[in-house]
Amino acid sequence: MAHSSLNLSRRQLFTRRNTSEHPSLPWVKESQFSDLCTQCGECIKQCPTKIIQPSDGGFPRVDFQQGECTFCYQCAEACPEPLFHPKTETAWQAKAHISDACLAKQNVDCRSCGDSCEPFAIKFKLAIGAVAQPHIELPDCTGCGACVSVCPTSAITIKHT
Ligand code: SF4
Ligand code: SF4
Ligand code: SF4
Repeated sequence: MAHSSLNLSRRQLFTRRNTSEHPSLPWVKESQFSDLCTQCGECIKQCPTKIIQPSDGGFPRVDFQQGECTFCYQCAEACPEPLFHPKTETAWQAKAHISDACLAKQNVDCRSCGDSCEPFAIKFKLAIGAVAQPHIELPDCTGCGACVSVCPTSAITIKHT
């Protein structure tokens, strides 16, 4: 009884978190995740960049403070449950967003995020009387998260579009 109520509360917690704007895992079927994921941890073990971590509710989710997703698909291949879409589909509809905590918005020159973005999705636009301002070209952003941990003010988050 105690065990099932713990499971229920974890699922409720996850369901609340899962409706959040942040992605859980690439390619995952979000609507079935809390029902089908057994929290076995195989995806956590296989991720080469170690960005998959247990969340508060015990379910795995990506933490871009640990690094980036290389879209290798090893988490999906390791999962024993029918939880992931095929690799041929888009991993997720998640994109980077820059908040007002960005140093450039406070007129401090910084291009750390742009330097970390392989697809060159972050463009810096000159502004009159201010340092160059970052702008994300959303069609070019893969949501890989490489720009997140390099930001000195934690201004970047990866969100579903
Ligand atoms: S696709 Fe690869 S790098 Fe991305 S979360 Fe899965 S295992 Fe990690
Ligand atoms: S491998 Fe699959 S079932 Fe196991 S924790 Fe990861 S997503 Fe859940
Ligand atoms: S999430 Fe990846 S692709 Fe998108 S802006 Fe950041 S580094 Fe570039």
